Amino acid sequence: MPRLRLRHAVRAALAALVPLALLGAVTGPAHAAPAAWPEPVPVVSHVETTDPVVFITIDDGWYHDPAAAKLLLDRRVPASLFLLPGAYSYDSGYFHTLLDQGRSRVENHTVNHPDLTTLDATGQKAEACGARDQHLAQFGDGPRLLRPPYGTFDETTRTTARACGAKALVTWTYDLTTWGRWTPPTPRLKAGDIVLLHFNETVTQDLRRALDAAEAAGLTPAPLRDYIPG
Ligand SMILES: [Zn+2]
Repeated sequence: MPRLRLRHAVRAALAALVPLALLGAVTGPAHAAPAAWPEPVPVVSHVETTDPVVFITIDDGWYHDPAAAKLLLDRRVPASLFLLPGAYSYDSGYFHTLLDQGRSRVENHTVNHPDLTTLDATGQKAEACGARDQHLAQFGDGPRLLRPPYGTFDETTRTTARACGAKALVTWTYDLTTWGRWTPPTPRLKAGDIVLLHFNETVTQDLRRALDAAEAAGLTPAPLRDYIPG
């Protein structure tokens, strides 16, 4: 069904429910929710834009490297921080500084970092809405983007993301994280690319490499949530 007609159908279904709710009792057969409600969010691994921009995203949040924070603040990098609540439970000040004094934003990466495809709708909702609620309580700013752990998701994840306040599932174009002793080759970045980093022991050198690659390509880091409609 075309999206517009689907929206009409959803509205009509909701409108039909209102008088029933007002009566206080549903006497007819139960009204099943339409299959695709709420509307699934888009999946974004690269932003279509002609602006000379790239997007810096940093995940998890376990290692609170002062040098990385200084680099983000000194260069005014609007990073998207896909944090786990556990990673700020022992030191939220590190991230408050990045948000309050810099241009970074906290986004959703679930509560417990599961492979969401192993969970049913209730389990996925607990992970995504639970992280949203904890971010909101801690930082006073609700996440608008959801990065599913490991980049794995299913159709349920796309509707759950919407229900938990996200307007997109965000994966990545390039993972520039150094894992152990292996540093991935630096790609030639293009406008709209999404770079993935992690708050690990090499985050500062990885971030510097990403910023250098952006500069070499004539690109400036931009705030990802502002480039995603919805
Ligand atoms: Zn992660």
